[in-house]
Amino acid sequence: MIKGTAASDGIGIGKILLIEEASLEFTPHPVEDPAAEVERFRSAVNTLIAQTERDAAMLRETAGEKEALIMEGHISLLNDPALKGETENLIMGGQCAEEAYSSMCDMFVGIFSSMEDEMMRQRAADVRDIKAGLLRILLGVREVRISDAPKGTVILIKELTPSVTAGIKKGNIVGIITETGGKTSHSAILARALEIPAVLSAANAVSRLENGQPVIVDGSAGIVIPDPSFDQLNEYTEKREAYLRERAELEQFRGRRTLGADGAEYELVCNIGKPEDANKVLDHDGEGVGLFRTEFLFMDRSAIPTEEEQFAAYQQAALILKGKPLIIRTLDIGGDKEIPYLGLEKEENPFMGFRAIRYCLKNRELFKTQLRAILRASAFGDIKIMFPLITCVEELRAGKALVEETKKELTVLGIPFNKDIEVGIMVETAAAAMISDVLAKEAAFFSIGTNDLTGYTMSCDRGNANVAYLYSALQPAVLRMIERTIRCGRQAGIPVGMCGEAAANEMLIPLLMSFGLTEFSVSAPSVLRTRKCISRWTKLEADGIAEKAMSLATEQEVADYLSKVVSAAK
Ligand code: PEP
Ligand code: MG
Repeated sequence: MIKGTAASDGIGIGKILLIEEASLEFTPHPVEDPAAEVERFRSAVNTLIAQTERDAAMLRETAGEKEALIMEGHISLLNDPALKGETENLIMGGQCAEEAYSSMCDMFVGIFSSMEDEMMRQRAADVRDIKAGLLRILLGVREVRISDAPKGTVILIKELTPSVTAGIKKGNIVGIITETGGKTSHSAILARALEIPAVLSAANAVSRLENGQPVIVDGSAGIVIPDPSFDQLNEYTEKREAYLRERAELEQFRGRRTLGADGAEYELVCNIGKPEDANKVLDHDGEGVGLFRTEFLFMDRSAIPTEEEQFAAYQQAALILKGKPLIIRTLDIGGDKEIPYLGLEKEENPFMGFRAIRYCLKNRELFKTQLRAILRASAFGDIKIMFPLITCVEELRAGKALVEETKKELTVLGIPFNKDIEVGIMVETAAAAMISDVLAKEAAFFSIGTNDLTGYTMSCDRGNANVAYLYSALQPAVLRMIERTIRCGRQAGIPVGMCGEAAANEMLIPLLMSFGLTEFSVSAPSVLRTRKCISRWTKLEADGIAEKAMSLATEQEVADYLSKVVSAAK
């Protein structure tokens, strides 16, 4: 068995087609007629642009618009004036086209690879791809096309470039194995869009596997099984069928409203960490965003993002969502979320310490910069503000006062924003759950954060293996916190959602429906599964299940009971 990165779900069973790139080596040679060499270079660029346009059109049909845009990104790189102009300068200085273009591309690859931003590093792979494409044309090397591969082919290749992926015919290629690339590489994105199981970064796969060898690719588990036994073939054939059945069943929930079995409607939104994740929300049929974790904008960089940078990010998410709701949570740092450049003091007890809203209220300028950016973006969509880690009413009041102050400043400056923007809170501390009756009078909405609420209620750190057994949202104590929060929110007439992981827990869903949760916020890939789970129950059935579950004494009893009820309903 060979282990790799699970990059595209599903199971593929087939025979290996090893794709070896022809050598693109060349011997640099001086040119006698630089002007003619520039022409040869330009004509190669034009040929590659034409090829790439064909690839983009093909991808638009097989994978989708977003995937085609990856190839169109290649065209922009090919047209890049710096890359093109500098190459031509080098040629005019006497270098051959191969040498000039290679050295310019290598320089760009070096620059992009050293950048911190994942997207920029991805550009390095794109430049390598166009460099290979152009050298192939200049050297007259026949291109590897996989469009003629027979049915049941598993592609094995060192590095899967978007231009190779573009040649894939969906019905014939049943799996992809590579030696490089991660979950967020363009190859992974394309494999997912084409719904082909893929295991990337499988160590030394090219030397360990052979052309024509039978193989199983488990893209969900990230494993490759060469020469499977009869039993393994049976096992994985069954797994594949179960996977395909489930996917087809879930697809029936695409484009539908989120309804209980009695027709009661719920909101099913998503948690995101970056503005571009809003695209994933739409791809997975989410109805909006219930939690934008803005701390990700502050991570992996060396300085606080400016108001403009933040505004651009919030606006981008709002524009992608086209009027669908977008709840932006203000900076939630501290605890396990470190931002080195803020210079936070080391604390004995970081989860109990100077974090989230506590930090923001003491760092007013940083906080107001974020509020200004969110308010400005509110002119472009249905944006709401949410404060993390609230433990007392004073924190909510202080946060709201800063929102009001910021609004006044924007009004004076004549900058547009939504004057009626709602300000809600996360209920993720035991304190907030206990005083949810009073908080509900001053918050526009609640969103229950079970990830933290479970830890704070059970007084256990989930990173500590010795106490991890306590960390469960099915603990009677946590269930009571959840029930109380939803009841108090309802009594005050405000919507109550949940954005912790528990919102997608199929065992907990009937309880949440019974308690009166109105909004479920889950990771984008969980949308259809959650919609299906919700569709199983009427409110009346959910009430019966909740009553029984709440009468049980231990987490184990609750888990056993709910798992029995859920299995029976499937
Ligand atoms: C939570 O605590 O449940 C939550 C959603 O916030 P985070 O996971 O970002 O701490
Ligand atoms: Mg939290």
